[in-house]
Amino acid sequence: MNEAWIDVTVPVRSGMVHFPGDPPIEVTRVLELSKGDPATVSRLSLGVHSGTHVDAPVHFIADGYGIDSIPLDDLIGPARVVATRDPRVIDVPALRALEPRAGERLLFKTRNSNFWSQDEFAADYVYLSLEGARFLVERGVRTVGIDYLSIAGTHESAPTHTTLLRAGVCIIEALDLRAIEPGPYEMICLPLRLAGADGAPARVALRRHS
Ligand SMILES: [Zn+2]
Repeated sequence: MNEAWIDVTVPVRSGMVHFPGDPPIEVTRVLELSKGDPATVSRLSLGVHSGTHVDAPVHFIADGYGIDSIPLDDLIGPARVVATRDPRVIDVPALRALEPRAGERLLFKTRNSNFWSQDEFAADYVYLSLEGARFLVERGVRTVGIDYLSIAGTHESAPTHTTLLRAGVCIIEALDLRAIEPGPYEMICLPLRLAGADGAPARVALRRHS
């Protein structure tokens, strides 16, 4: 029997935490049954990097491709959740110990997941170092995921993203991995098919793989 799917998507709601400088998230009812309208209809206003989302190369590479050109095989299939104990940075020694393999989808569970219980942006989130990004590219990792709003440190955001995206490494950000034990999983990650966009909110689910 298969294990149950676990939703690791951060719920999208008005006022939720977002990366500093990005647009706020607003879900507004513009029609409402209780007000006599024929149906309830909401308007959604948000940046494409809101909540759980996928980054596309064009986010940091001017002539890169958009979210609708990311191969679905980067986003669906076996994934390995690894726990990191590093207080701040996922660096090369920590990555080497994990023995990343070519073609792997690697999801980092850090202390970041606990930030999902607060609405304020947590500036001291755990991130992948630039050298770490280069190491994962050398190893041929296919997809990386992390449990807060950026894979990169704010001081090296552009080079870290560019290193991964230029190499065709898919980036999933803002996973909620609180309920997930490290180990092998199957993953389904489906970002919205926004034409040419630099990112898109995604629904992500994991199922334990025995
Ligand atoms: Zn992003």
